[in-house]
Amino acid sequence: MSDHVGNRAVVLGGGMAGLLAARVLSEAYADVLVVDRDTLSGVAGPRRGVPQGRHAHALLARGQQILEELFPGLGDEFAAAGVPAGDLAGDLRWYFNGRRLRPARSGLVSVSATRPVLEARVRARVAALPNVGFLERHAVLSLRSTPGGKRITGVRVAAAEDGAGPGRTLEADLVVDATGRGSRTPAWLEELGHGRPEEERIKVGLAYTTRHYRLSSDPYGGDLSINPVASPANPRGAFFPKLHDGSSMLSLTGLLGDHPPTDPEGFLAFVRSLSAPEIYEAVRDAEPLDDPVTFRFPASVRRRYERLRSFPEGLLVMGDGVCSFNPVYGQGMTVAALEAVVLREHLRRGVPRPRRFFRDIAPVIDVPWEISAGGDLAFPGVEGRRSLKTRLGNVYMSRLHAAAARDAGVTEAFFRVAGLVDPPQALFRPGLALRVLRNSGDRPARTGRAGDGGRMPGGVASSGGAAG
Ligand SMILES: Cc1cc2nc3c(=O)[nH]c(=O)nc-3n(C[C@H](O)[C@H](O)[C@H](O)COP(=O)(O)OP(=O)(O)OC[C@H]3O[C@@H](n4cnc5c(N)ncnc54)[C@H](O)[C@@H]3O)c2cc1C
Repeated sequence: MSDHVGNRAVVLGGGMAGLLAARVLSEAYADVLVVDRDTLSGVAGPRRGVPQGRHAHALLARGQQILEELFPGLGDEFAAAGVPAGDLAGDLRWYFNGRRLRPARSGLVSVSATRPVLEARVRARVAALPNVGFLERHAVLSLRSTPGGKRITGVRVAAAEDGAGPGRTLEADLVVDATGRGSRTPAWLEELGHGRPEEERIKVGLAYTTRHYRLSSDPYGGDLSINPVASPANPRGAFFPKLHDGSSMLSLTGLLGDHPPTDPEGFLAFVRSLSAPEIYEAVRDAEPLDDPVTFRFPASVRRRYERLRSFPEGLLVMGDGVCSFNPVYGQGMTVAALEAVVLREHLRRGVPRPRRFFRDIAPVIDVPWEISAGGDLAFPGVEGRRSLKTRLGNVYMSRLHAAAARDAGVTEAFFRVAGLVDPPQALFRPGLALRVLRNSGDRPARTGRAGDGGRMPGGVASSGGAAG
């Protein structure tokens, strides 16, 4: 007798959330089909459907752990391909509040793969599963449902070149929408009579601008990346990782409309204003390998599917379609992985029930959302209600970063929370709080430039965030 809970699951979107969904669905459905409007096979570079893939992406520690569970040996594959990896808290150079954090040996692995390389490796592992197939260059048009819209029965797709045509129907026992931030499920639910989910938005007016270089000097000194973190007094940040091919990627981040320019002079002037002066020293005479490109991210958006009164059977939403986080905290792929773990648990109990699934992923999203949304509220220009908890949390996190400039134990505790391995409460344990108080006074620590409050790109909120 078959152990399957259904014959066919169709995953809409072959980005990270779609791939991770397909991986766990392959254990429970006879066939899994991933539909994407892009060409995916053989693509290891940036692609149209994932424009953010041109910019720095870091996989948080918890995400790395889950990927290794789902794809044993993935880390070894990266190593064999020459992708640099090291300790998140010890081998990356972090600046918060203009101060360099004291490195710690945390055991938390950071893989310095670009987003396209990471995705291509994961896609290769998913494609190797015998019951997973890909339908490339096909756009998703709409859902198919039973009369009354109580159950989703499939999806209409059309070849991407003539997406305006009539399309064809793919029947499915389960449809998983992983089309990302532009997901049309809210509109489809409205058409089917279920209403739209409530949305929470934090307007951050963020932009990333990225350029690649071949350096003529080595600013890293053994580190994998140099990451000065944006802060209220200097909302300009950067990620500057070394890449597997020996080049360097420089992603600049600017908040609240202070966007890093794409003209070379403006780009360099922005670099000069960062709180890690070695980045400017390294790139001002380096060979640029391309022109700067920008990605604008107006707001973080959380869709509250768990609060809808009705929801059709046979449909789930995962990844950015449920919650699209301010990317400087580096949470999106890890949250997609955490959601895949929840889906796997549901599948082990039988056919997944959408309302239960959304109820169970809500607490998984709560922590990273509090970290990023709370952290963003440390910036006075970001609109939103600042509860006492958020304000106190932001003050505490600012002191914690000051302490981490002196105390490696504080650095390690911070990255375990930022990496979504430990809960935020871990930062308030009496022993750690004492170390924060003891080490966060005004004694000078080793500083870069421009001090102030802060948070961590590709990582965590300095502020209310982690405090929640
Ligand atoms: C600038 C930037 C930097 C980021 N940095 C990080 C980071 O450091 N760490 C991190 O974890 N996360 C980061 N993120 C977030 C991360 O990119 C996403 O959270 C993650 O990729 C999960 O997204 P997803 O799979 O839900 O959607 P996406 O990655 O957007 O994938 C959606 C897929 O659906 C396909 N698709 C969309 N519409 C259709 C359609 N109608 N028909 C067919 N196919 C369709 C697309 O082609 C694409 O393949 C960053 C985001 C941005 C914007």
